Amino acid sequence: MNLSQEILKGNITALGKGITLIESTLKEDQKKAQNLLSECLPKSGNSIRIGITGVPGVGKSTFIETFGKLLTNIEKKVAVLAIDPTSERTKGSILGDKSRMPTLSAEKNAFIRPSPSSCTLGGVANKTRESIILCEAAGFEIILIETVGVGQSETTVNNLVDFFLLLMLAGAGDELQGIKRGIMEIADSLVITKADGDNIKNAKNAAAEYERALHLFPPMENGWTPQVRTCSALENKGITEILEIIYQFNSQMLSNKWKTKNRAYQNSYWLHFKIKEELGSKKYTSLLDSGKIKLLEKELEKGKNINQLIQSL
Ligand code: GDP
Repeated sequence: MNLSQEILKGNITALGKGITLIESTLKEDQKKAQNLLSECLPKSGNSIRIGITGVPGVGKSTFIETFGKLLTNIEKKVAVLAIDPTSERTKGSILGDKSRMPTLSAEKNAFIRPSPSSCTLGGVANKTRESIILCEAAGFEIILIETVGVGQSETTVNNLVDFFLLLMLAGAGDELQGIKRGIMEIADSLVITKADGDNIKNAKNAAAEYERALHLFPPMENGWTPQVRTCSALENKGITEILEIIYQFNSQMLSNKWKTKNRAYQNSYWLHFKIKEELGSKKYTSLLDSGKIKLLEKELEKGKNINQLIQSL
């Protein structure tokens, strides 16, 4: 089958195969993967990319199930990709697993893919960046990037997404949740999970506390005011409100042109990252000094494939 044509038609089997190609470390696969990526790039970009993070047990997979179902119910195509910085240690991908999201994975408009294995966090995230492009080309309108909140991955994931959602438990304490100030600073919305039963009051109190804490942070460059909410994914409460916040964010970022600006910035981040990774920091510095990277950035703005640009060096 012609993979790119099938992906562009929205064929999910082809999309899965395409991502496998992207994740492959075989040289011959990599060449095919980059050609595929270049064919998909012109049809990509048209989605809302959402990062979802929180400590294990906060309720990420339960939230994604309920939130994803809400989206498929309104005929939206939703893809769930994962970045698992711990998979190297555990030797397995614990996130984005179909068995963790059984209801959503049965939906025809949902695509779920676990974390790729790779040696570095940046490497994993870069594969995910390429998978996002393929998903968008296949017509997925909402892309959820799940990551486990261990402190290092969030800033990397922030370079992949438009909107960053931080899930938190009530009463667990910031220390316990490994939540560093830096993570809260990049969150576009902070949601206290499991606001049901006896936990409703705790969740509301925690939300009020975080609301106060966020007021002390410097304003976000994009003009957005981070929103604090509570939700119960089990009881399907507060989930629609989160979607509304995301839509509001998206339209605000489209009208103030931040979305485009931010994506261009992110592309440039990955260009620099890949050059350093593939050619080493010495070569990177000399390319930077000679102005060559600036030229590549111009090409990148025209929608060129990062890897193929680097090959031209
Ligand atoms: P993850 O590790 O962050 O993906 O967390 P899970 O989604 O696997 O949830 C961890 C535990 O919390 C499971 O036992 C869930 O049933 C429970 N849980 C998740 N969401 C809710 C919720 O909205 N309310 C309650 N009461 N429990 C929840």
